[in-house]
Amino acid sequence: MDIHEHQAKDILASFGVPVPKGGVAFTPEQAGFRAREIGGGTCVVKAQIYSGGRGEAGGVKVCKNETEAREFAARLLGTSLVTKQTDASGKRIDRIWVEEASDIDRELYLGFVLDRKTERIMIVASGHGGMEIEDLAEEDPDSLIRMVIDPAVGLAEYQARELAFKLGLHGPQIREMVTVLKACYRAYRDLDAMMVEINPLVVCKDGAMVALDAKMSFDTNALFRRPHVASLRDPGQEDPRESYAQDHGLAYVGLDGDIGCIINGAGLAMATMDMIQLAGGEPANFLDIGGGASPERVCQAFRTVLSDAKVSVILVNIFAGINRCDWIANGVIQAYRDVGIDLPVVVRLSGTNVEAGRKIIQQSGLPIISADTLAEAAEAAVNARPTSIAAE
Ligand code: GDP
Ligand code: MN
Repeated sequence: MDIHEHQAKDILASFGVPVPKGGVAFTPEQAGFRAREIGGGTCVVKAQIYSGGRGEAGGVKVCKNETEAREFAARLLGTSLVTKQTDASGKRIDRIWVEEASDIDRELYLGFVLDRKTERIMIVASGHGGMEIEDLAEEDPDSLIRMVIDPAVGLAEYQARELAFKLGLHGPQIREMVTVLKACYRAYRDLDAMMVEINPLVVCKDGAMVALDAKMSFDTNALFRRPHVASLRDPGQEDPRESYAQDHGLAYVGLDGDIGCIINGAGLAMATMDMIQLAGGEPANFLDIGGGASPERVCQAFRTVLSDAKVSVILVNIFAGINRCDWIANGVIQAYRDVGIDLPVVVRLSGTNVEAGRKIIQQSGLPIISADTLAEAAEAAVNARPTSIAAE
C-alpha cells in the first residue's frame, strides 16, 4: 500500500528525519493559509498523488508568496497529473502540500528496499539525487551504493558512517546522515514497510540536511497490525477495480488485456495467465478468489472483473481442494442472475465435487462454455472473444 508524500514525511519526521516545515491543503484558500503559516515568503507547492516524476510534469512549483501559492494550488486541484510513472489518464489531484523552500546545494538519492536475493533490507544511495532510480541505474550506475543490513544487528553505526563517506559528505553532515539512515531503517522495520525513498535528500547551502521528497509503501499483509498506517490509505489514488476487490477480500491486480480471469490460488492464476498468452490472448486481470469461496464471493468476483470495460470474455478456472465445484457452479449461475452477464463465459472445473459442479452448469441452460483442461479453457476463452470472431 502506498501513502502520500506528506504522510511519509510525517512518519519519517517522527523517527527523526529532518523535513521542511509545511502543511496539507484541500482547497486553494487552505494552500494560501499554509503558505502564511510557514512565514508567507517563498514556499514550494506540491501536488499530492501516488506517483513520482511530478516535478517534470508540472506538479511542483517554487512560489514567491501566499498569493502565488494559492493560485498554483487552484490550477492543480481537481485536475489530473500525467507523469512518466502514471498511465495516460494520470492521477487526480485532491490535495496539495505547501512547505518552506530550501536553498539546495547538493541532491542525494536514498532508498531502502527489500532485497529478495539476500532476504534483507538493502540501502541504495547515490550522490546524484533528483533523478529517478531507473535513470540513475542507467546513466550513472557507478554512483549507486548498495548496502545490506543484517537483521540481527540492525543498521550498524560504522555502516552508516561508511555510506556517508562514500557519498562525499563532510563534518557535521556525516552525523546528520547517520541520524537519517538510522531513522529510515527504524521506520522501515517498525512499520512493516516495503520501501522508503527520499529523493532528493538535500544538503542546503547553510549545511543543513533535509528530506525534500519522501515515499513509503507498506506490506499489505501486515496492515492488520498497523492500524495507523492502514488508516492513511487514500482509495482515490488507487485503481478503482483494485479498491473494490480489496474491500471484498479478493486478491486482484488489474492488467491490460481483455480476458477476465476468476481463479482460485495464486499459482493456478499465474499458470492460467501463461496459458492465455500461449493461446494468443492477453489477461485483463489476476484474480484469486481464495479457498472456501461461497457463491456470493464468486458473484463479487464477477462484479469486479466486469467493472473493467475492456473485458470481452470471462474465464473461470477452479481446481477445488478446499473449494467445492458445486459452490462455484452455483456462484456462476447466481452471477448470471444477479450481475447480468452478456459476455461469453468459459468454465473449467476440477477437483472436489467436480461431477456435481458440471451437472449444475449443464442443467442451468445458460450459454456457458465448458472446458476440461487448463489448455482447453485458455484456448476456448481466446476463441470466444468477439474481437477474435470479428477478425476471422
Ligand atoms: P517528484 O518529481 O515527484 O519526485 O517530486 P520532488 O518532491 O522530488 O520535487 C521535484 C524537484 O523539485 C526536486 O528534485 C527539487 O529539485 C525541486 N524542489 C522541491 N522542493 C524544493 C525546494 O524547497 N527548493 C528548491 N529550490 N527546489 C525544490
Ligand atoms: Mn522526488
